[in-house]
Amino acid sequence: MTYDQFFKNHLEQLKQEGRYRVFIDLERPFGKAPHALWHKNSPQKDDIQDVIVWCSNDYLGMSHHPEVVSALCFGAQLYGAGSGGTRNISGTAHPHVLLEQDIAAFHQKEAGLIFSSGYVANEATISALASHLPNCVIFSDDKNHASMIQGIRNSRAEKYIFRHNDMVDLEEQLASIPRAQPKLIAFTSVYSMDGDIAPIKEICALAKKYGALTYLDEVHAVGMYGETGAGVSEFLGMQNELDIIQGNFAKGFGVIGGYITSSSNLIDFIRSTASGFIFTTSMPPAIAMAARASLKVIQRDHELRARFWKNVDYFKDAIQKSPLMLENMVHSYCWEDETGESGLRSHIVPVIIGNAGLCKKICDHLLNEYRIYIQPINYPTVPVGQERLRITITPDHTFEDIDYLLSSLSAVCRLLGDKRVAA
Ligand code: PLP
Repeated sequence: MTYDQFFKNHLEQLKQEGRYRVFIDLERPFGKAPHALWHKNSPQKDDIQDVIVWCSNDYLGMSHHPEVVSALCFGAQLYGAGSGGTRNISGTAHPHVLLEQDIAAFHQKEAGLIFSSGYVANEATISALASHLPNCVIFSDDKNHASMIQGIRNSRAEKYIFRHNDMVDLEEQLASIPRAQPKLIAFTSVYSMDGDIAPIKEICALAKKYGALTYLDEVHAVGMYGETGAGVSEFLGMQNELDIIQGNFAKGFGVIGGYITSSSNLIDFIRSTASGFIFTTSMPPAIAMAARASLKVIQRDHELRARFWKNVDYFKDAIQKSPLMLENMVHSYCWEDETGESGLRSHIVPVIIGNAGLCKKICDHLLNEYRIYIQPINYPTVPVGQERLRITITPDHTFEDIDYLLSSLSAVCRLLGDKRVAA
């Protein structure tokens, strides 16, 4: 077999399994969100159609916020397009330093460190910590993101994977290691594919009991959760209990980049040891300025968050009454804390289809016939048999948009013969 034949065969296999990734070619004109232009037959023929996007992680529409865009343009005029180097070699710009101060204050920590993405922040920090702390053992939730898993792998540290959000399992694992041995518990506030939320208080209590550091990924929470948008840890008043809070500027903030916040010594340690921080060109200063502008808006604009949650609540209320609720297709309502006393709820709504081919068919039909864009989520992003539509609502969607989405989704599922919604 030739190399090329190998690649071709692999791609054929993906296509047969309905897992071949098709990137929808979109234009998102400024100020038109959630509408976008779909270049339907590109690159062969430019056949453009208007679609509504229902799967963006630009959760608050901040990528189009006028203050953010102005900061980006102004930053480019002031400092140019690139940063000119790694942080160590002429690539530390004043906006980086200011952004690090801002995020530290945002999470009520002593210091912050920015990275080129949330993925890099996770990989670089976890691998540096666990490879340097002597005999460190990592305890990782089994639904953690690929970037955390890669950090764990690269550290070569001993690892325990605890069952998702299962405190009994975590405690059993922690108890099996001597108290004096360094430990790191890595987990996530809002899990991106199921939309459920970690028991942060309980995990911090276990960490204290067994002498572990805590590392919390707040990537899908910053911007939307907490009084000033600083995440679920802010909502629960737990920021000071956590050792490391990680986040990114790409989702709720609508820009790009990742970060960690922690004690001054830990941040200085990562700055000095993490390969993914040291050996790469730093974020363009204009991006840092856009991220700062976004952070400023997020901290002050409670109305934006209120509109976001009003839309999320409207959608979740409506979907609960729709035929999609049959047979637990709408997964987030399985989450028992959703209606609990804390008032904490999640914004991500997964609709479980459970079959890669059918999932893709439903998404194709929604796009082609209804101008609704939802990306099918297949293996390896979720396990086989858990294929789904992952729906996200933004403040820019209208109630009419939401009603149209629900009626279209029900019609398509019924048409394509999914018995679970055929009532
Ligand atoms: N952490 C989680 C939980 C994520 O879902 C993602 C990306 O989707 C990342 C980290 C990586 O963030 P970024 O997109 O900024 O690289």
